Amino acid sequence: KLVVDNFSLWFSQQQVLDRIALQIPANRVTALIGPSGCGKSSLLRAMNRMNELMLECRSEGDVQLDGQSIYRVDTDLARLRCRVGMVFQKPNPFPKSVYDNVAFGLRLQGERSHRRLDEQVESALKQVGLWSEVKQRLHQTALSLSTGQQQRLVIARAIALQPEVLLLDEPASALDPISTLKIEELIYELKASYTVVIVTHNMQQAARISDFTAFLNQGRLVEWGETHTIFTQPTSQHTEDYITGRF
Ligand code: ATP
Ligand code: MG
Repeated sequence: KLVVDNFSLWFSQQQVLDRIALQIPANRVTALIGPSGCGKSSLLRAMNRMNELMLECRSEGDVQLDGQSIYRVDTDLARLRCRVGMVFQKPNPFPKSVYDNVAFGLRLQGERSHRRLDEQVESALKQVGLWSEVKQRLHQTALSLSTGQQQRLVIARAIALQPEVLLLDEPASALDPISTLKIEELIYELKASYTVVIVTHNMQQAARISDFTAFLNQGRLVEWGETHTIFTQPTSQHTEDYITGRF
């Protein structure tokens, strides 16, 4: 589904990713793990060309979505970022109502029918398990929700755009244990409909929710494969040390 093809990235003179080659299977959860600063977020951002929002960024290689390069000059970046949605560590709802947050992208895509907007907002909120919690307060500001609820709302905002891929950068690390569990269950369910890539520092979390795991170190892909295999029989000493906390 998503293929990272010999991708390298530089910020100014510093090389951040070094010829990464990785396949992200459709309808599975792929976890990106590795020490702080190894390039996980940069690799995630390479998958919807977010790095380019930074100054002094240069890349080589390619990323293909459904066999098509996303690094063509004529790539429609707004459309790409709808197809490949992104969620960050800190929930970032717009300072608008719960409803308007989810409806935002739909309106941007030209949806004007109130009935269809209502339906799609409800459907997205149901998918993230938030509907029963917020249906009485759809027109309150999203900032009044708890942090865990805000994170699920932001995921609903991405889902409402009917993406093919969801990129999640440490989506649960700002959350309490119960909200974390809810997000983990949600991610596990989301893979039925979406291709999910998650960056996490939490090894138990990676083991619980991902099907595939990629281990990065200093901008290089050390190894990747089925999560079970990576966790039980890593081929690299680096991976083993990191997973067992000896890194
Ligand atoms: P963490 O686990 O701490 O989030 P990470 O694995 O996500 O780390 P990245 O954020 O991808 O790592 O950073 C990789 C390298 O790229 C780091 O050396 C970082 O300083 C550098 N870097 C990231 N973003 C930028 C930027 N906008 N400008 C310059 N350097 C950057
Ligand atoms: Mg990061």
